[in-house]
Amino acid sequence: MPFHILTGAFVHESNTFKQGETTLQDFRDDVLDLGQSAIDRFGGVNDELAGFLDAGRAAGWRVTHSVSAHATPGARVSAEAYDHIAGLICAAAAEHRATLDGILLSLHGSMVPSFCEDGEGELLRRLRAIVGPDMPIAATLDLHAMVTPAMVEQAQILVSYKTYPHVDMRKIGRQAGDLLDATLRGAIRPRTLRVHVPMLDEANAGRTDVPETAALYADASAHEREAGILAVSINAGFSEADITEMGPTVLVTFDAGHESRANEIATALARRIWDGRGKVANTFLTPDEAAAQARDFDPAQGPLVIADYADNPGAGAYGDATALLQALLAAKAAPGAFAPMIDPEVAAILHRHKVGDRVTLDLGGKCDPAFGGGPLRLSGEIVHLSDGIYTGDGPILGGITHSFGPTAVFRVQGIDVLVVSQPGQMLDLQQVRTFGIEPARLRFLVVKSMQHFRAAFEPVAGLVIVCDCGALATPQAHLRPYARVRRPVWPLDKEASFEKA
Ligand SMILES: [Zn+2]
Repeated sequence: MPFHILTGAFVHESNTFKQGETTLQDFRDDVLDLGQSAIDRFGGVNDELAGFLDAGRAAGWRVTHSVSAHATPGARVSAEAYDHIAGLICAAAAEHRATLDGILLSLHGSMVPSFCEDGEGELLRRLRAIVGPDMPIAATLDLHAMVTPAMVEQAQILVSYKTYPHVDMRKIGRQAGDLLDATLRGAIRPRTLRVHVPMLDEANAGRTDVPETAALYADASAHEREAGILAVSINAGFSEADITEMGPTVLVTFDAGHESRANEIATALARRIWDGRGKVANTFLTPDEAAAQARDFDPAQGPLVIADYADNPGAGAYGDATALLQALLAAKAAPGAFAPMIDPEVAAILHRHKVGDRVTLDLGGKCDPAFGGGPLRLSGEIVHLSDGIYTGDGPILGGITHSFGPTAVFRVQGIDVLVVSQPGQMLDLQQVRTFGIEPARLRFLVVKSMQHFRAAFEPVAGLVIVCDCGALATPQAHLRPYARVRRPVWPLDKEASFEKA
């Protein structure tokens, strides 16, 4: 009899400082696909589910896929959305309980529902209540997971991405699947331990393209070749989710008999994260400094790509901050583009017009003007109207179709602003090219993203710079009102120390 494995994906990174809730409709707008339709969409692309299926094919499993649910990072997940999606996974576990051998989940690790702090720990607890204490459960996590004690108690196997930009989803899905299969065959008896570091997040957010942090991930991979060490995961944490257990963690999944070595590895890596806490690779420019560079930039080798770091929708920022756009207009830095501006009101207004119309309106800055600037009164021309659907062709979104909802390109003083209705981080060149914005024709291109944009945009950029406009995901942590994180914590409290943790 082949092993019968239940798979599922429930992925959300929750920014607890963001107003409102992430609703079931937000998941529907992004990804809420059941069973075979999820396999059809994600089974052949760079997604954990594809890796699960790779492992399953190699091992001859029978796979029952429950649901793939993702929503763009945003406010806490509503109880209705959480219970619905967790309920789909739990109902499948209950239905197949008699024949099930193991469970394999794709999770983020930083999901915060409206009613508790630990979305993943709660899901695993609900599943354990159905399948009992012994069934092997393996889960993949994002590199920005905030792993709680409940998560390592409930899942025997946890494996996180080792790349940021994240490009190894399928690979770690396969790794988790192979470990689950080895467990079912009786070849290993895994458990996972966790060492936590008292920081809001790791200083380079886990960037694997800078020497300050790349060595950590290389060493984690090297440790996985040691006897009895099955997976070593370095989670940078997510500084926009204020929960008691927040912060970076090192996880080691180990075979029975290897706990003391696992603990040694995890503690040594965690100490290196702590020791590197001040070494930030990014230089954060003000909007005026970034705009001055854009105005003076020679685009012969490609445009100046400016990361609007603090307003990254991928970190749950609103994506409608205007401070950098205002500075670029004042500096007369055109020709350029600004992508995206998440403003469904303006997208709807522009869609009541036609291409070529001139319109005056209030753009952006509506969600929380205290973070990144208020609305700008602007006159411009509509140069493109679209339903917002695009299919990626880069390392992260290649072959995956998403939608920004009603979308328009609004040209203001030579700057093409990509106005969208649904939130989305800039990950792929098709997110601009589909809407008629060609980077090669520009002096500068603003992308609302912290780091993921580098996978697709760095190769076409003349130069990349990073701007902190003071929006919700600003690296200036003291601007956010933390209330729950266990204190002392670095960098808010200078007396924080790893030894005391
Ligand atoms: Zn991440």
